[in-house]
Amino acid sequence: MLRLSLTARCNLACPYCLPDGQEPEGLLSLEQRLAVVEAAVALGFHSLRLTGGEPLLHPGLTELVAAVQPLRRAGLRQIAVTSNGLLLTAERAWKLRQAGLDRLTISLDGTTATSVARMAGLKETSAGAQTLARVLAAIDHARAAGFDPARGELKLNAVIQRDRNDNQLVPLARLARHQGVELRLIEAMDVGSRNGWTPQQVVPAAEMVQTIASHWPLLPLGRKAHGTASRWRYRDGGGHLAVVASITAPFCGDCDRLRITANGIAYPCLFASVGTDLRPQLQPAIQPDGLRAAIARLWGERTDRYSEERGSIPTDQRASPAEMAVLGG
Ligand code: SAM
Repeated sequence: MLRLSLTARCNLACPYCLPDGQEPEGLLSLEQRLAVVEAAVALGFHSLRLTGGEPLLHPGLTELVAAVQPLRRAGLRQIAVTSNGLLLTAERAWKLRQAGLDRLTISLDGTTATSVARMAGLKETSAGAQTLARVLAAIDHARAAGFDPARGELKLNAVIQRDRNDNQLVPLARLARHQGVELRLIEAMDVGSRNGWTPQQVVPAAEMVQTIASHWPLLPLGRKAHGTASRWRYRDGGGHLAVVASITAPFCGDCDRLRITANGIAYPCLFASVGTDLRPQLQPAIQPDGLRAAIARLWGERTDRYSEERGSIPTDQRASPAEMAVLGG
């Protein structure tokens, strides 16, 4: 899977992510992004996720979704966006669907004004209430635009942190079940170097599943090859639940994610500190062969498995890693 970040900026400042207020130097143009996707598809990447920062802040998002459609003939199968949903109006959702977007994942970490404000880094509870209302409206807009949750085209992401929003596990599951949407519970990760992560903040995926299963019994479905999420089915027919256990059950061995920042730096791992700058192959002119070769080299040489080694690397010996909002999650 190729995760392409369109912007490092976000309209929220969730403390566990802490985005930059500004873009990095040298943002890629539409043509350059298209060339990157084309090169990745030629190398066998068949799934594209557009992310950020907040991808809906980027005015060219719909144009890019439309521009990559011809690459379906070359092997591109799925185009997805991860968003906090705040800017997803009915019109924008419809335009994205018309442009050929297959899937939308919306992030929401709580079901109350207080929990949303806390998780999103908002000072006022009233801002939490507004944010919650807008995200719930975004879910409605996405469904109305044709993103069908029953076909996995609309999902919810929630990062869970101990003593911050773990009391939202059951309410979030209830909300998702009511909406008919798969909820993906994510263990808080130590991405970047400024989110103040500690192991104590992590609610293990097994505990999250147990908490929810005590309300609605679950059947395990396992984790698909190259997938990040282990999935479960509600025994009462209430849909699906997923957990992303990158801390307690890392899956480096079959990770297939290539991440490219908004300014064209490619990272083979979410926890990498050094990336490969693709701009020499993108400017002053795009060199398709050189671009393919650079991505193939980076991919062929990757040895990252930080999540599996985490416990054995002292925190002070960890090279300064790239930030989540820059890498795009
Ligand atoms: N702004 C968009 C959004 O909110 O979905 C896209 C970018 S965001 C970096 C992608 C996903 O990463 C979100 O679901 C977010 O909650 C998650 N995320 C950010 N920081 C995280 C962390 N430290 N641990 C686990 N997940 C994190």
